[in-house]
Amino acid sequence: MRSEDEGPDTGELLRLQDVRKVYGRTRNSVEALAGVTMGFQRHTFTAVMGPSGSGKSTFLHCAALLDRPTSGSVLLEGQDLTQMKERALTKLRRNRIGFVFQSFNLLPALNVVDNVTLPLKLAGKRPNRRLVDDVIERTGLTSRRKHRPGELSGGQQQRVAIARALVTQPALLFGDEPTGALDTQTALEILGLLRQAVDTGEQTAVVVTHDPVVASHADRVVFLVDGQVSAELDRPSVEQVAAQMTQLGAWARARRSAPSERVR
Ligand code: ADP
Repeated sequence: MRSEDEGPDTGELLRLQDVRKVYGRTRNSVEALAGVTMGFQRHTFTAVMGPSGSGKSTFLHCAALLDRPTSGSVLLEGQDLTQMKERALTKLRRNRIGFVFQSFNLLPALNVVDNVTLPLKLAGKRPNRRLVDDVIERTGLTSRRKHRPGELSGGQQQRVAIARALVTQPALLFGDEPTGALDTQTALEILGLLRQAVDTGEQTAVVVTHDPVVASHADRVVFLVDGQVSAELDRPSVEQVAAQMTQLGAWARARRSAPSERVR
């Protein structure tokens, strides 16, 4: 954890440099990312939004190196990850990157503690009791330590997923619609935990969302259209995000009905 008087640790942690991703070959190929360049400062929270099919998932998968870009670079602390061998990349993902998904992805047979410590065990590390207790406490799960996912609410299950993502103390925390399956109040609590990880913990967060309320908690909102960054807003209000999404939705619809015209 950072102490308050250390001040903000600035500087770029992650950079996507002219990232392209093309699915398929020849005539049926789809350009899901069409040259995305974007930097992520340490200890910031970025929300990524855009109409369906705009490339958000592809962006997240490329940024988190779950999938390799067709061309371009993904730099973590200046190191080009696209050049790394698969084994080194797997290790790096385990140690430096945490994920939170919409569907929680917990193992139903394991209790909270065992779900949370699973990434450490998979990495061949012995869980540090104090660290595990701290993460479980921070996510408000202390009284649920021995419960299995089936005995928990959706919000509690997502807390477990966040604790599991934080237990390796990753530099980067990626979220794919992390509040998509939750009611508004629970979503706000989960958002609070993500925000806390960025504000007082070690993390830099990048979250894909379609929810303007979620995006309004971010330091920056990046909008994708047709695999390109079409707009960016710094610390926007819910209304500003919603207005931008409406504009992009209209733009995307216009594009679909008149694909040969440039509507931009
Ligand atoms: P979003 O998350 O914004 O809905 P995606 O990143 O899922 O967008 O998709 C972007 C584009 O790439 C879409 O046209 C989609 O159909 C296409 N696409 C995504 N994944 C694949 C795939 N595995 N094979 C072929 N096309 C894909």
